[in-house]
Amino acid sequence: MYEETLEVVTAPPEGSTSDDNYGQKRTPESQSQQKREELNFGPLKTIHAFWLAGMSCDGCTIGVAGATNPPLEGLLTGTLPGLPQLMLHHPALAVEAGEEFVHNFYLAERGELGAPYVVCYEGSIADERIAAQTGGYWSALGAENLGGDRRRQIPTTEWLKRLAPGAAAVVAVGTCATWGGIPAAAGNPTNAMGVMDFLGRDYRSTTGLPVINIPGCSPIGDNFTETVGVILLFLQGLGPLPEFDELGRPAWLFRDTVHNKCVRGGFYEEGIFAEKYGDRECLVEIGCWGPVVQCNITARGAINHMGGCMNTGGVCIGCTMPGFPDKFAPFYATPPGSTVSTNMARTYGSVVRRLRRMTQKFQNHELRWEEEGHVPSGWSAHQKPSLTSRAIHQIYQWMQYRNTVRPGSGGPPKGSERPPTV
Ligand code: SF4
Ligand code: SF4
Repeated sequence: MYEETLEVVTAPPEGSTSDDNYGQKRTPESQSQQKREELNFGPLKTIHAFWLAGMSCDGCTIGVAGATNPPLEGLLTGTLPGLPQLMLHHPALAVEAGEEFVHNFYLAERGELGAPYVVCYEGSIADERIAAQTGGYWSALGAENLGGDRRRQIPTTEWLKRLAPGAAAVVAVGTCATWGGIPAAAGNPTNAMGVMDFLGRDYRSTTGLPVINIPGCSPIGDNFTETVGVILLFLQGLGPLPEFDELGRPAWLFRDTVHNKCVRGGFYEEGIFAEKYGDRECLVEIGCWGPVVQCNITARGAINHMGGCMNTGGVCIGCTMPGFPDKFAPFYATPPGSTVSTNMARTYGSVVRRLRRMTQKFQNHELRWEEEGHVPSGWSAHQKPSLTSRAIHQIYQWMQYRNTVRPGSGGPPKGSERPPTV
């Protein structure tokens, strides 16, 4: 966390004075505290959301704009039952621009908004002290008038520092904002970090919440809108505080691994693995980290329950995880830890899948076909099962029906006749 020394290190623009208040916290903690006490939570009509973008590719915005359950439009129009209308102040989606756009940011900072607000941060937090050494900035929103025609771009990290103390919740959206992500990869020149690293472990919103983290590169839009929805229900007094895990992730969304719900999990279990992209089997040997990665894309899909990495043939590179990307490099190589389990699955699977195919073959037959000894399908020649497989099937059926009555074992009802076969 470096914000404690931000004012000291950040150089003021040439010609400015200390009165320019460059890089300083505009709203002291005590003032935010006073204002927050004036805010009434409970049934709300509106709540504001200030979207800040650090070092981002805007992919999180695109992900969130594509949310369908609930849709972003539902939050913005206030049509979701029980939820207040979300007044979103987003630099890419707003119709206002310039000073009109940042006006509400200043009101929030001064505690004059008249309604609670949440802060959503997309992208990683750059160390603006580094950029300031050469008079620049990494990512900024709005400009401050320094007198005359001199203006200063306000770094979004500074906005975060100004707005976080008075926010009802701070939500980090996407892996860059949660854990630093790609801009924070080893060797980066910006000393990038996530919101939680920046605000520190002691940070609490006005409602007592630490930073809420919704990772993903890009995140699933539904994960964001659903989490915001349940937080709003909580603020309304209509629902409990949802469960978050030890890293501030919505627990119900990030508890399971990708592998737990993967459409290719059955192949893994039977020890059948893809050798190249485009194969339909489990992708672990061509680089999938799904068994250890907490992500719900295999259950939720990317947009509208469609798409998602392995649903569409891609491996998991761990983009939701704090170790991403460095700890999952090199991408598209077999994760070393998978060797033991894949070899065990191969051994076990080679037996189990043979037994399953045998059962599958028998279960693909109507009882009548078995009695009549042929399958009336013109699509393939019917092969009679071997003596061995029939014997195994007899044992299987004995086990299946030993505590119940086998269907058809009493013969056809008296007086009934089979329809004639063609
Ligand atoms: S593709 Fe990945 S997530 Fe899916 S079953 Fe294989 S290892 Fe697990
Ligand atoms: S499956 Fe892996 S790569 Fe795909 S979104 Fe989830 S964590 Fe990221």
